[in-house]
Amino acid sequence: MNLFEMAQIPLHKAIEVMKLDPNAAAIIDCPERTLEVSIPVKMDDGTTKVFTGYRSQHSTIMGPAKGGIRYHQNVNMDEVKTLAFWMTCKCAVANLPYGGGKGGIIVDPSKLSTGELERLTRGYIDRIAPIIGEKMDIPAPDMNTNAQIMGWMMDEYSKLKGQYEPGFITGKPICIGGSLGRTAATGRGVMVAAGEAIKALGIKPEEATCAVQGFGNVGSWTAKLIHDLGVKIVALSDVYGAIMNEGGLDPYEVEKHVQATGSVVNFPGSKAITNAELLAMEVTVLAPCAMELQITKDNAADVKAKIIVEGANGPTTPEADEILDAKGILVVPDILANGGGVTVSYFEWVQCLYRYFWTEEEVIEKQTQLMIGAFKNVYDMAKKYNVNMRTAAYIVALNRLDEAMKFRGAY
Ligand code: NAD
Repeated sequence: MNLFEMAQIPLHKAIEVMKLDPNAAAIIDCPERTLEVSIPVKMDDGTTKVFTGYRSQHSTIMGPAKGGIRYHQNVNMDEVKTLAFWMTCKCAVANLPYGGGKGGIIVDPSKLSTGELERLTRGYIDRIAPIIGEKMDIPAPDMNTNAQIMGWMMDEYSKLKGQYEPGFITGKPICIGGSLGRTAATGRGVMVAAGEAIKALGIKPEEATCAVQGFGNVGSWTAKLIHDLGVKIVALSDVYGAIMNEGGLDPYEVEKHVQATGSVVNFPGSKAITNAELLAMEVTVLAPCAMELQITKDNAADVKAKIIVEGANGPTTPEADEILDAKGILVVPDILANGGGVTVSYFEWVQCLYRYFWTEEEVIEKQTQLMIGAFKNVYDMAKKYNVNMRTAAYIVALNRLDEAMKFRGAY
């Protein structure tokens, strides 16, 4: 089974529970469009290397496609299609006027010079330009892409169009149309989801503990903001290893240690554990914020958390989901929990279209309200159909997509 087929399992479950019209289900099952491109790049040594890139638009039913661009050696069409599908569902759960898209280039960017990276980035935009734009498909950063790369993309696209085009991409530097609050947005959303889940179980934040897997953009902000909520952070990890302290870790201090050493490992006062041990800790909240396929049929039975809040995309396999369900663990799914990033991307797009920019407080206030509302919708839907939060989130998304398709006359 490939990743796209696996990602569709919870979708199909929701389709069955809500008895969605099979005509609507057939449309949602297939990405609208996936483009593969070749990007020739003049390398610093005088040779030309041709890279492969993709852009997939899963759905534009609710509005222009929206989703990040990933630079990684393992990027492939199946992964890009899956990530685009998740974006459709995520935007629909958050009730944003967007469909879902995703892009990527097969490349290890750490092996390129800054000049090569810029030429690759501009070449990619030249190739996908016919299908992107502020009203068609709006890219953003994803793994190994950042505000600088978004700046080059915006510049290249503006040159192609002969006009300033800040609304075609989000995640830009603030000085060229980025939004305040974007860097922390995904972690902030994970924190809001965790806070609501704790509340739903009748637990006070100061009585709760949390372990976070991954200490990158999402994981570090999740840890810091959950800590600010009054929850004790007892374990953190990154690709090099994991650390724990039952008395609590200060993620702000851990961040300084990471800046100095490159890893959470060897943080003073912490005990070294394995990533597998972190996932099996007895905590209130486990927040997987690293990457896909971390909680599987092989380790789900070991999970002792009361709540899992999925900061990463697709960290839990469908088989693991069943095991977690049987254990009564409340899983707040990725398409709800990590929607904070795209929500603030949406705010960035709105601000760029208006050329009028909000304060960070306004962004945080609007994001928080939107996410609390999304959590409540999904939680209520879970109660209504007596299903878990993942199935409920897909039902919320499918209801919105189905309604839009009916009015647009898609079937
Ligand atoms: P990142 O590259 O900044 O951070 C990833 C972190 O995970 C790093 O600390 C890395 O060391 C760690 N890691 C990698 N493999 C690991 C492993 N096996 N065990 C433990 N730690 C490991 O990436 P990010 O932007 O924080 O994204 C993380 C996840 O969140 C991805 O699944 C991404 O698709 C998803 N996501 C990100 C955003 C966003 O706004 N950045 C939005 C929604 C979803």
